[in-house]
Amino acid sequence: MSKITLNGCLDLHIHCHPDVKERSVNDISMAQYCIDSGMRGFLIKSHDWSTHDRASIAKTLFPECEIFGSLCMNLSHGPRVNPFAVSQAVKTWGNSCRCVWLPTRESAFDMKRNYAKHPGIPVVDAYGNVLPEVIKTMEICAEADIILASGHSSNEETVALAQAAKEVGLRKFVVTHATSDPWMLSLDTLKKCFALGAYVEHAYVALIWGPETPFPHYKPCSIERILEYIAVCPERTFLTSDLGTAGLPAPHDGMAAFMNLLYTYGISTKSIDHMTKTVPAMLMNLKEQTTRQEQTT
Ligand SMILES: [Zn+2]
Repeated sequence: MSKITLNGCLDLHIHCHPDVKERSVNDISMAQYCIDSGMRGFLIKSHDWSTHDRASIAKTLFPECEIFGSLCMNLSHGPRVNPFAVSQAVKTWGNSCRCVWLPTRESAFDMKRNYAKHPGIPVVDAYGNVLPEVIKTMEICAEADIILASGHSSNEETVALAQAAKEVGLRKFVVTHATSDPWMLSLDTLKKCFALGAYVEHAYVALIWGPETPFPHYKPCSIERILEYIAVCPERTFLTSDLGTAGLPAPHDGMAAFMNLLYTYGISTKSIDHMTKTVPAMLMNLKEQTTRQEQTT
């Protein structure tokens, strides 16, 4: 049986310790796994804390591994999207802040969906217009040439954000969790986002969560749907694990399983390379490596 290896791939969505929730890896163990498996590197996400500073420190210990950080606009950074926090993050020594996530766990969409008392952090006003602080954040990300990710937004919000990103001239607007249950894009929204120049992420966790897992309330996505969504525009699609949650497979195991599953379903090694190496490397402003995906039988 053919097997796709992790050699050269980048996973831009990993939840590592130190974090508030229990995690299966930390920044250091993840870097070591990358080196052991041939993975090129990873981007650390925390819903609460900035991870660009710790990424820079980890990188000094593992210079052969690409380690990036990010900043997530949840309540730890104030009740609104916070452009000042973003401007400081992109100025921090190490140049490791390569992604700003719009609100996730505390987004207005998630708070409403969960019937929470807190209104959540908005990205649009009552008329659906993208808020000024979000535009300012887009401008900072455009200037720094880093990702602004949609976070946990509704379909309507995501289209409005993609439109605003295009107007601002943000090159790296990423629609995250495109096939993860609560934030699942409709096919129509997916097409609109691609037409507006967005990149789209599919996360492996969406295939494996559900009953008997740490995310029992989320409905697992079918592989068929992910294949259907990839087919719309593989050129602007990339794959991540979105793993790190204790009780689920480790991120590198999840990523390997994802790539092999897609291969089993007929996606070519070239296309898998594109979605796990080429697009993530471009999003991180890395030069593409010339080594080919290894295949063994
Ligand atoms: Zn995540």
